[in-house]
Amino acid sequence: MRRSSLRVMGKHRRDTPYINDMRPQDILMPVAAGLCCKPGGFHIDPVRPVERAVITHGHSDHARPGHGAVLATQETLDMMRLRYGDNFAGSTQAIAYGERIKLGDVTIQFHPAGHVLGSAQIAVSCKDTCIVASGDYKDAPDPTCAPFEPVPCDVFITEATFGLPVFRHGNAADEIRKLLASVALFPERAHLVGAYSLGKAQRVIALLRAAGYDAPIYLHGAMEKITRYYQSRGVALGDLRLVKGVKKADLAGTITLAPPSATSDIWTRRFPDPVTAFASGWMRVRARARQGGIELPLVISDHADWDGLTATIDSTGAGEVWVTHGQEDALVHWCKTRGLAARPLDLVGYGEEDEGDTVPLGEDAEA
Ligand SMILES: [Zn+2]
Repeated sequence: MRRSSLRVMGKHRRDTPYINDMRPQDILMPVAAGLCCKPGGFHIDPVRPVERAVITHGHSDHARPGHGAVLATQETLDMMRLRYGDNFAGSTQAIAYGERIKLGDVTIQFHPAGHVLGSAQIAVSCKDTCIVASGDYKDAPDPTCAPFEPVPCDVFITEATFGLPVFRHGNAADEIRKLLASVALFPERAHLVGAYSLGKAQRVIALLRAAGYDAPIYLHGAMEKITRYYQSRGVALGDLRLVKGVKKADLAGTITLAPPSATSDIWTRRFPDPVTAFASGWMRVRARARQGGIELPLVISDHADWDGLTATIDSTGAGEVWVTHGQEDALVHWCKTRGLAARPLDLVGYGEEDEGDTVPLGEDAEA
C-alpha cells in the first residue's frame, strides 16, 4: 500500500478496485468461529476453539480459552492466564505494538486500540491491500492504556456498540466530578460504583486519582487480581484495599468499585446506606439507569461514541468499512452517505462481557 498517497486515494480506491491486489474478502471473511484469515491460517478473536487465534484484547467475549496457538500482546496473554489458568492455550506468542509478523501469505501488525490495557487493532496486509480489524476501541483519553492510533488502511473493520447519533459520552472527568460531589454531599453513606472488572474499574480509579481524590479506594474481591495486575504494569492507582473484613461503619464516606451484578445483590448489605452508581456508556439512557436501580448514573465508556466512530472511520482513509457487533445499521448508512462502501458483518458472540452487553446489570463474568 502506498501510505503517502493514502489520504488522497482512500475514498476513491473502490473506483479502481484491487487490480493487482487480493480482494479484501479473500483476506478476511466472517465464518461461524469469527473472522477467518485463510491466507494467513488464523482467526481473529474466535468464539470457538481454533488452531491459531490472533486476539485483540482480554475481554472474555474476544479472548476465549481452548485455542491451539494464541498470538496477542503480553498484557492480553497475561489477562487470559489470570482468568483461565496457565493452560488456556496450547502455545502463546507475545507481539508488541508496531511489531510485524508474517503468518502464511499475510503480514500482521498490532496498533493500540485505547480500549483497555494491552488492547490492539490488528492490521492484516496481503500484497497491496491492508485491512484493519480494530476489535473494541475508543478515541477518548484513558490514563490506564496506550491511546488509540489511527491506522491508514483500505478496509476498516469497526465495532458499533454505540453506533447511534444519540450516543455522545461527553467528558469522563465531568462524571467523576459528579461522583465526588455526591461523596462530599453524603459523608455518612458509602458509594458503590458498578464497573466492569477489566478496564472500566481501573479507569474509574485512575480518573478519581487524577481529580485529586487520594483516600483509600475499596475493591470487591473479584476485582483484585486484575487491578493488581494493572498496578504491576505501572498503572498508578494509589491506595487500594479490599472491602472484606472492613467494619460497616468504617465504610461511610468511602468509594468501592464492584462488578455490576454485585451492586444489586445481598453483598451491598455490608455498606452503610449505599449510593449505587454505575459507570457505563449505557447510562446515557435514563430508562436503563432507572431499571437497574442506579441512583447515580455515570456516563463513562470504553467504547467510541457516535462522534468517535465516525471521526475514526474518516481518519483511517478507508474506502470500505465493515461493521461488526452493536448497532450496525446507522453506521453503515452513515458510511454510504459519505460515499464509502459499507456492510454489516453479522458476527455473533461478541458484546457479552463489557458494555457491549445490552443489559447494563447483566451477569459479570467475574462477579
Ligand atoms: Zn472489550
